[in-house]
Amino acid sequence: MKKPKKKRAHACRRASELISLSLDRPLDRAERRALFWHVVICSSCRTFRKQVESVRSFLRADGTAPLPTSFLDANLSDDARARIRAALESAR
Ligand SMILES: [Zn+2]
Repeated sequence: MKKPKKKRAHACRRASELISLSLDRPLDRAERRALFWHVVICSSCRTFRKQVESVRSFLRADGTAPLPTSFLDANLSDDARARIRAALESAR
């Protein structure tokens, strides 16, 4: 049985918060567990987490790393791609 949309949206919002929070500090055990079980069943949040991790590793890189594959594969307009690339470059 599928979860009602409202419950799923709440769970996805919480997962997104945890993914973003993980950029600022390590997640505690309960947070890691909640996120783990959510991304097991939610491909959208799994993709979002992968993209966040790609951007994080890109920002930590020495400046010679190629752009993350998920960034290159994402369905973005050329304009959006250029804006993101400029933001990433200026964040280095
Ligand atoms: Zn989700």
